[in-house]
Amino acid sequence: MSRAGDVARDALQAALRLFPWPTEAGLRRVGSPGPESPVLITGNYDLTVRRLLRALRGLDAWVVVAPSSGINVWCAAAGGHLTTHQVVTALKTSGIGSHVHHRRAILPPLAATGVLGREVSRRCGWKVRFGPVYAHDLPRYLAAKAHKADDMRRVRFGLRERLEMGAAWATPTAIVLGALAALFSSSWVLPVIGLTAALAFGVFLLYDRIPGPRRAIFAGAAAAVALVLAALSGGGPAALVTAALGPVAVTALLTFDYPGSTPIEGGSHFEERRWQITLDPDRCMGIFSCWEVCPEGVYEKRENPRKVVLAHDERCIRCGACIVQCPEDALFFSDEKGARIEPQTIRRFKLTLMGQRTIDSGEAPAEASDTA
Ligand code: SF4
Repeated sequence: MSRAGDVARDALQAALRLFPWPTEAGLRRVGSPGPESPVLITGNYDLTVRRLLRALRGLDAWVVVAPSSGINVWCAAAGGHLTTHQVVTALKTSGIGSHVHHRRAILPPLAATGVLGREVSRRCGWKVRFGPVYAHDLPRYLAAKAHKADDMRRVRFGLRERLEMGAAWATPTAIVLGALAALFSSSWVLPVIGLTAALAFGVFLLYDRIPGPRRAIFAGAAAAVALVLAALSGGGPAALVTAALGPVAVTALLTFDYPGSTPIEGGSHFEERRWQITLDPDRCMGIFSCWEVCPEGVYEKRENPRKVVLAHDERCIRCGACIVQCPEDALFFSDEKGARIEPQTIRRFKLTLMGQRTIDSGEAPAEASDTA
């Protein structure tokens, strides 16, 4: 694909990011990989795979694309579409085992809510490590012999990510609301699309930086601007009412607390918002799997004794990855009454489209399958 075609496809996929976009699962070669070349695993979301292949340009590597229902790695792992089963199946069926002499694979750490590293090893003999969060850090990570620097461990919500999330929400929201506006008057379509897009980008660029009651401030300011524009363009009563109420409704939609979506609104719509990550130091054996997978840099390593500490528990977004991976069950959530939520329960939770956790009955948890 040409560079221009690649850029256009990136833009289209960024705009339609809320929807699955599958690419073929299986084995990809980067450069001229040999039997000692690194093996990387990802899900079959097209944008992710193309970004990964681009990030690896100039290197020799194998990429195993596991089926994840065409969904990006983080959402697929949290929602039960990228699990231990998919990774084991991809390793067994892609033929990678006949191309390399080693059995080491690198997974993105955002897969850690769904893929149990030690279970992959038990089921197919491949040793899994969780690499850097972002594909563009992979060349540095590989050059450093799989040493993960601190800046490779945390998810960032910088300008690029904010613009991508703005585009992802602006596109479907503007299409739906523009179509609704067309039912009333064709002259409303462009203003509604423009206002919706402006609100979507405004929410993701500014909203969490507004002090005080930000939802009211943001929606009020947007409604005031829309009212002035509607009045200046000679809109009738219906247009003025829509201009006043529309931004309030769209702001409420865009800032609803969808766990796993973005850190825009850390609200309390869901019970688990009040859960606290808790460490039982007596159980910690210094394996550091939590340190390796936590996307928020909550943990710090300590030697003498070799253990982790919860150094920044205020950063925890309750993704559950550390609990899923800890082989000693040294980590768990405590609810608002201090009661322990069993790690095995967290391993079986999957997020619904509305961000609510439900128990997944599809894949048996690790301990249960060990005894099967
Ligand atoms: S400490 Fe919180 S953010 Fe970090 S992996 Fe555990 S649950 Fe996720």
